[in-house]
Parts: sequence; structure tokens; C-alpha cells
Amino acid sequence: MAVFTADAAPVVAPALPELQELWRLIDQGGAMVRARELARVSVAGGELPVVAVTMGNPDPAVPGLGFIGGVHGLERIGAQVVLAYLGSLVRRLRWDLSLHQQLESLRLVFLPVVNPGGVLTGSRANPQGVDLMRNAPQDAEHPVPFLVGGQRLSRRLPWYRGAIGAPMQPESDALCRLVREELLGRPVAMTIDCHSGFGLHDRIWFPYARSRRPMRHLAEVHALCEVLDQGLSPHPYIMEPQSRHYLTHGDLWDHLYDESITLDRGVFLPMTLEMGSWLWVKKNPRQLLSRHGMFNPLIEHRQRRVLRRHMAWLDFMTRAAQGASRWMPGPESRLDHGEQALIRWYRRRD
Ligand SMILES: [Zn+2]
Repeated sequence: MAVFTADAAPVVAPALPELQELWRLIDQGGAMVRARELARVSVAGGELPVVAVTMGNPDPAVPGLGFIGGVHGLERIGAQVVLAYLGSLVRRLRWDLSLHQQLESLRLVFLPVVNPGGVLTGSRANPQGVDLMRNAPQDAEHPVPFLVGGQRLSRRLPWYRGAIGAPMQPESDALCRLVREELLGRPVAMTIDCHSGFGLHDRIWFPYARSRRPMRHLAEVHALCEVLDQGLSPHPYIMEPQSRHYLTHGDLWDHLYDESITLDRGVFLPMTLEMGSWLWVKKNPRQLLSRHGMFNPLIEHRQRRVLRRHMAWLDFMTRAAQGASRWMPGPESRLDHGEQALIRWYRRRD
């Protein structure tokens, strides 16, 4: 994997504000921040890199947390939320001793712009027309909603999965490699993948997207939900399995979660933040006239408010990752958490 520094930013890259901000932060972070290029995608006018940043202790025995954005190019606010949090950490490195202590026993991984070609052109899919969040080689276990659940009819229609049997797209592959190399196999690892465009509320989704079955680590997710409710109250989030809303083929987090189960080493909890963008539309109906309006706050003060709104949760998750051994349920409480979770999210008593 190529080591990447801000100085080596490719000159052929078309200007993309999110990547320019990333170069600035890599530069500011100095020796505390390590950046690497995972892939390069061709776009009109040149190439754009898929760049990951890591901070903290690389020891596989410490917990890890990943921040992901820009999987869907149209949902720029997701990339901006990740960059805003990375920016706050980088700026605090100069003076915040507690942050330095935190990084001694924690690994942090950032991939703010998974799909730079899509961000550049303002499209959900990558430049090949593939929806990266439908691109994993997995089919749903039940019928999925037409098109939205993932389709192989045409790359000209949205939610295209890619050709059957084709390798994963370079962007999806880059994300999977990064999670595999940096996070899977740690005693505890979590990821937060930031999206927008669904509903009125901010939601935190966990697997599965392809099945209505509960995930194996439902008790752990329930324990995390409990410390979130206790430690960050009041908070705006609704935590739930994605399958409560709709099922999809090819979800990358389902795919990586299954890989962690096969690996059978440590607990991996992938979370997706779905920012409730319809609220921004409701407050400013003119947003409907813009293609970006359904997915991004268009007014500057609202954008700042959205960024600020999520910083506290991202910081909470960093602390939760570091202190995971204190809240993860042990043998005496795991059954109880599991039962409560089934009642809460699956309305089952068995
Ligand atoms: Zn999305």
C-alpha cells in the first residue's frame, strides 16, 4: 500500500474542496497523522485518490474506531461531518493532553471521501455508475424494494450493483481492505459511516441490511445504546437495525460484519449514521428545487448546525471505543441485553 503525504497530492486531480481540506488536515497533523492512498479513480480531467488517515496506537490489542464518509457522492454532508471531526482532533493535538493519552490506547481510522468521483460529479454512484453500498457480493435473504434494494438491470438506473460476478469496484475494495487491515481482529472495533437523505430523524443503523434476522452481537449493540442514552442524554438519535426500514442487496457493512464473524476474533460493530435530511427541506422548501437539496443542508448556518450537532456523538463514540471493555456485556449480563434488544427492535420474546 502506497504511503501518501500531502506533498504528494496528485497535480492532475480536479479541485475537490473535501480533498483539499483533507490535504490541509494531513499537513497540520504532522507526525501524529499518517495518510495513505488506497486507490485512484479516473474522472473527467484526471484522477482522484481514495485516501485514508490513521491516528493513535497501531497495536492490534487496542480498540479501533473508523469514520467513513462520501460513499454516496451526492451526500457531501457525510464527508464534511467526518472532516469536521478529524479537523477538531488535529487542531486539539497541539494542546490537548487528554487526547494524547486517549490515542495511546486507541486506533482511529478516517476515510472521509470513499467515492471522490461521485462527490466531484454530484452523483450517488461512482464514475462507473455503481452504487458502492449495493456492491458487495451478497444477496438479500428476502425480497427487496424494486430498484432501491439494488439492481443489475442497468448502470444508467440508480442503485446499480455492478455486473454479476465482477470484482468489487476499486472504492468498495479500498474500504474493505482498510477495515480488514486496521480494524477487524481487534478486541473491539466500530465504524461510523455517515450518510444523509432518509427521513426526518437522525438514525444510527446497525446490521443487517440484507436480512430481518438479528445480528450475533445484538447484546453488544444494546449495551452501547444504553451507555449512549445514559451518557449523552438528551441526544437526537434513533438507534435501530437497518432492516426495520428496507432491505438491500450488496451492503458493504453486512459483508464486513460477516467477515468478522468468520474471523471470530473480537467484536466488530459497524454503524451507519443516516442524517434526517427531510428536516432541512421542511425548514427551507426551496431546497427541493436543487438536486443536492434532498441530501445536504444548503444554507450555511444550517450546515454549521448539522456539523456541530454530530460532533458530540462522534466524540462520545471515541470515548466509548476506548472504554469498551467497561460497558461490553460480560457473561452475566449478555443474555439480559440480548433479550431486551429482541423486545426493543424485533418485538420477540424467545
Ligand atoms: Zn447514502
